[in-house]
Parts: sequence; C-alpha cells; structure tokens
Amino acid sequence: MKKIVLVGTGMVGMSFAYAALNQNVCDELVLIDINKERAFGEAMDLNHGLAFSKSSMKIYSGEYTDCSDADIVVICAGVAQKEGETRLELLNRNTGVFKSIISPVCESGFDGIFLVATNPVDIMTRVTKELSGFPKNKVLGTGTTLDSARLRYLMGEYFDINPRSVHAYVMGEHGDSEFVPWSQALLSTKPVHNIILDNPEQYKMPDLEKIEEEVRNSAYKIIKAKGATYYGIGMAIVQICRAILQNENSVLTVSCQLDGEYGHKDTYVGTPAIINQNGVKSLIELSLTGREMNKLNKSCQVLDDYFAGIEL
Ligand code: NAD
Repeated sequence: MKKIVLVGTGMVGMSFAYAALNQNVCDELVLIDINKERAFGEAMDLNHGLAFSKSSMKIYSGEYTDCSDADIVVICAGVAQKEGETRLELLNRNTGVFKSIISPVCESGFDGIFLVATNPVDIMTRVTKELSGFPKNKVLGTGTTLDSARLRYLMGEYFDINPRSVHAYVMGEHGDSEFVPWSQALLSTKPVHNIILDNPEQYKMPDLEKIEEEVRNSAYKIIKAKGATYYGIGMAIVQICRAILQNENSVLTVSCQLDGEYGHKDTYVGTPAIINQNGVKSLIELSLTGREMNKLNKSCQVLDDYFAGIEL
C-alpha cells in the first residue's frame, strides 16, 4: 500500500493530484487544506474521474492524523505575496504556515518523506528540515526538477532531438540565481561544447545562453500570461514521488541539503541527487568549472542569507 498525503489543495497541489491519479502513482491519496471544504470538493471531483481511469486509488479529504502511515507528505500549501510585501516578510508568513503543518504531521507519528513544492522552495524545504528534525535524506524539495525539464525540452527543440536523449541540468536556487553547468551538458554521450565545435555554423553558444535565460524566465512568462504555473510542477512532483515509491534510484535535480559537497554545508539547493525509497540516497557531485562553481556559490549565498533572516 503506497500512501501519499497532500497538504495544500490549490492549483499546484491539485495539478499534482490529477497527474498522480492519471499516472496511478499510489494506492491512497489524502487531501488536506486549511480550507476543509475545498479539500472535500477536490476529493469528490477526483473520485468521479475514477471510473474513467485505470486506477482504483482511494482518495479522500482527511486530517493530519492520516499522515501516521503515509509514505510521503507532499506540501504545496502557501500564501501569496501581498502588495508591498518583501520576500523576507513572505518567507516569515510561509514559515508560520509550515509551523501549522509540520507539527501535526510529526505528532501523527509520520516517519516517511517530506516533499516540498511551496516557494521559495529551497528555503521552505530547509525550514521543513529544521521544524521536523527529520534526517536530511527524508526532507527534499522539488528544486530545479521543473527547470531541468524546461531546459531539456528547449534543447530538444534547438538540436532537434528527443528531450529524453538530452542530458543536462539546471542547478542552484529555484529562482533568479539558477544556472546551467554547460560543461556537463550532453546529447547522448557527446558534450554540447564538442557539438558546437564540430558544427560552428549550425550551433552557437549564445543560442544556448538564450535558452538558459528562457528557462530562468519561464515562470515569469507563464504567470504574466495565465496568472500561475501548475501543470509542469504537478508532473514534476509525480516523478519524484514515483522515484521514491518505486525505489527507482533515479537522478533528479531536487532541492537537498549539502553536507560538504561543493564546499557547502547545510544549504538546501537544487543539485543532481539519486532518489529512492529512502528519499535522497546520495548526491552526484559534478565536476564543475571555476565559473560554474562561482555561480553555485552565489546561489548558496543567496539562500543562506534568506534563511538566516527567518524567525524559526
Ligand atoms: P494556491 O493559492 O492555489 O494554493 C495554496 C493552498 O494552500 C490553498 O488551497 C490554501 O488554502 C492552502 N493553505 C494556505 N495556508 C495553509 C495552511 N496553513 N494549512 C494548509 N493549507 C494551507 O497556490 P498554488 O498556485 O497552488 O501554489 C502553491 C505553492 O507552490 C506556491 O508557494 C507557489 O509559489 C509554489 N510553486 C512552486 C513551483 C516549483 O517549481 N517549486 C512551481 C509553481 C508554484
């Protein structure tokens, strides 16, 4: 029996739930929200789709006590930025939201894995680690998984190759300081740097840098066009849950805690990691160039500074 509890049944949470149902990722899905009526209605709506699905998932709106035997608690709950509110003020309000969630989850006897999607995701994941006192392998965030998917999609278009054959990652903060370590980007097993050297007329580094910029600005563009982003992140959460529940040992750029890797300690940041039933099995430490290391250092600095300003 694979059981997931979702806390926060807004657009992101329900996009995840809808994708989870369609991909039959677990046997039981519990929906929790501060707005109980909303969680109730969402559960009802999803249940009416069961007859059309291959899944016989048990879906219901529940209570924090339902977390006691869950494998994963997915957190998509959060409050939106108010006009004139600083990022740090928003962070402190979201920390308040997380205090009201993490305590009852832990009191239920929950012993599974926390997966956080609420923004700013790297910091909220670290807040979850601090509030829960769970070991670092059992607390992870969606990190740059969605950004890496966006990168692979755009590189696939540019090189006219299936994104599944593009091996490239976005690393760092899920936000403005994220970056692509191009020295580590491959098509099949060939580095993109070599592909550019071999085809200088067709492919150019500035084009790839534009793609990197496009990935960094994707969320802003989508928010401008339709108000919020949710389908892509919902599917990214499903992929991470599947890697955990199926003990896949898949490499995903989740937000996880550094413990000496890349010369940093305690920071939660998007980095390739092996994900299995224990959560984060280990990190794959890439051989970054000096310039790429500087970018990662900058990301870690931004995240450490924000975390230091939070009242836990
Ligand atoms: P939303 O406003 O639609 O949903 C938020 C939900 O949280 C609401 O249903 C609300 O009732 C609930 N909530 C608020 N306080 C709560 C509490 N104390 N306990 C339980 N539930 C509570 O927002 P959304 O569009 O679904 O976005 C959710 C979060 O996901 C945001 O922080 C957003 O920035 C983030 N997000 C992350 C990524 C990513 O890549 N990690 C991508 C898109 C959005």
